[in-house]
Amino acid sequence: MNTDAVKLLQGRYCNSLTEYSRFVTREVNIGDVPMGGNNPIRIQSMTTTDTMDTIGTVEQSIRMVDAGCEYVRITAPSIKEAKNLAEIKKQLRQRGYNVPLVADIHFTPNAAEVAARIVEKVRVNPGNYADKKKFDQIDYTDLEYQGELDRIYQKFAPLVNICKEYGTAMRIGTNHGSLSDRIMSRYGDTPQGMVESAMEFMRMCETLNYYNLVISMKSSNPQVMVQAYRLLVETMVAEGMNYPLHLGVTEAGDGEDGRIKSAVGIGTLLEDGLGDTVRVSLTEEPEAEAPVAIELVKRYVERKAESEKQKAEEKELSAFGLQPSASHSPYEYKKRHTYEANAFIGGHMVPRVVLDLSKKNLKDASILNDAGYLYSPLLDKYNMAEQSVDFVYLADELPSFVFPSNLKQLYNYTTWQKLPDKTNCHPVFSLREYLEAGNHSSALNLVRISPADIDSDEFGSLPFDNSLVFVLETTALHGMADQRGFFFKLEELGLEVPVIVKRSYEFGVLSDEFESQKSKVKSQNERLTEDLELKTQNLQLYAATDLGALLVDGFGDGIWIDAPELPANVITSTAFGILQATRSRISKTEYISCPSCGRTLFDLMVTTQMIRSRTSHLKGLKIGIMGCIVNGPGEMADADYGYVGSGTDKITLYRGKEAVKKNISSANALDELIGIIKEDGNWVEQEQV
Ligand code: SF4
Repeated sequence: MNTDAVKLLQGRYCNSLTEYSRFVTREVNIGDVPMGGNNPIRIQSMTTTDTMDTIGTVEQSIRMVDAGCEYVRITAPSIKEAKNLAEIKKQLRQRGYNVPLVADIHFTPNAAEVAARIVEKVRVNPGNYADKKKFDQIDYTDLEYQGELDRIYQKFAPLVNICKEYGTAMRIGTNHGSLSDRIMSRYGDTPQGMVESAMEFMRMCETLNYYNLVISMKSSNPQVMVQAYRLLVETMVAEGMNYPLHLGVTEAGDGEDGRIKSAVGIGTLLEDGLGDTVRVSLTEEPEAEAPVAIELVKRYVERKAESEKQKAEEKELSAFGLQPSASHSPYEYKKRHTYEANAFIGGHMVPRVVLDLSKKNLKDASILNDAGYLYSPLLDKYNMAEQSVDFVYLADELPSFVFPSNLKQLYNYTTWQKLPDKTNCHPVFSLREYLEAGNHSSALNLVRISPADIDSDEFGSLPFDNSLVFVLETTALHGMADQRGFFFKLEELGLEVPVIVKRSYEFGVLSDEFESQKSKVKSQNERLTEDLELKTQNLQLYAATDLGALLVDGFGDGIWIDAPELPANVITSTAFGILQATRSRISKTEYISCPSCGRTLFDLMVTTQMIRSRTSHLKGLKIGIMGCIVNGPGEMADADYGYVGSGTDKITLYRGKEAVKKNISSANALDELIGIIKEDGNWVEQEQV
């Protein structure tokens, strides 16, 4: 690795915390599609068919490539499937598809050695390549630990030598849920353990002069995943390595949850300039994954152009931009310390959610349904949903109905000032207004601010007291970093003011982008529906990236998403989804469901929906749904309960990591799972509203 790059990054995990700057990695050859270096960030996914179903796998691979996949991964659980990769490859080539293939290997070095002679890349999991997991806690002496590494080297070196001979690339893919007993015993299931798990294999590769490597650090918990990748970069650089990074959140789930969770993890790292290829794992058809990955990656093409323009204008990027405060570590979660603003926001309170209803029909109380306050005209009362916002912003508009007492209203200062009854109503000021206003609220004052304002004279003259809360806005292209810089400066100044992070999104007409790809002429209604779906997805991905990246670092006491083109209920659900994915505020059941692959033993999509339909009201519970037990129960990482395929029509149910019902019929499995949840006292009946 070039020594300047080492110096630039020494002790750090990215080039800049304030400007978009991609971490340039070593270029790795994978068939005709190189990865890393200055290549575009590549898109990939994995088939879900049985690898022995040649036609099915070929057809699915073609659909994936047509959807935008640049690499296709296929599972090879044994030598039989590994050999069949040759037939799959042949048929794909015959049909004009030269997409590089990747063999996914767990446990079976012999299958890996066959596959490495056929496909362009093999993925090995260092947690199980040469080890069967026994969940043994062993205290290794240094000598014993080294003995284990020597044993692994003997098993791993033949594969590396085959890869060298055939020009095959390799991904060393660590998974938080399947770390070896050796790593668990010494490091626990920590980001450091994940990094060390990969580094051990990387060092062996380098000893064998093999460098065609790609690395991943996946977890179903975006926070752990982000910390592990960052630590990996710092560790790699310290050892003079710069291998490309494959980004992914495992078992992200489906629909909105899957998109938001993926964006929080993958998006945060892309914001840091990290990542050379992206795989979004959704419990959906694999061709649904590439468009999501493409959308996540697309934003950085523009950023790259902008940072190059800045360089050309000689606004040279500083080595690392702003320095984080000494109390901030990118490798562990620590919420920024703030004061509690008169029991409204900040301190130990969960992040608050603000929703803008100022442009809605404020003559109709049912508009508050979108904010999570379900109005019953019959009883003339509100019921609170699981996801009910804390503040609504009404700007200068006055509602003509009575609000529920626990929902706070925010008004622009000039309007607030004139309200005859200010109960539950709070002012929003500009910075100047706040300085000049004769009348502040004794309870809560929100002041809009941009990151640059912190260096202004006005900021210097602010009167600080416990009623003050900032609403942090940005118009910068690299807005997350702009806002992150503000938090660093607040910490430097020792200011503990709570901050609501606000982001605004406008999308324009999106369905036109896809018009040329579709042969069918769409009706106006179809266009509108498609447009709304695309905007909803983009909001989930962008807001989860921008706000999630701050929340995983412990920044933000509240979030405010402004997206005038989207219905208010979509914004509410996105906001709570982001808080759930960052584990900063839990408002629903979490499903840790695998994307399925050729090892899957039941229909994951149907099963996930079925489980969701009966358990989605169990707020705070985490349920793992896995197609197979290849990686052991650890794959579910921190799920409370697990529903795992253990044979044809057979399910094993877990309580934490303990199998409590083995190989039961899938027909009764959900009822049995609910029975276990009830036994544990974790079941509540669904409320009928
Ligand atoms: S857990 Fe799911 S994705 Fe992972 S190997 Fe098993 S079936 Fe495939």
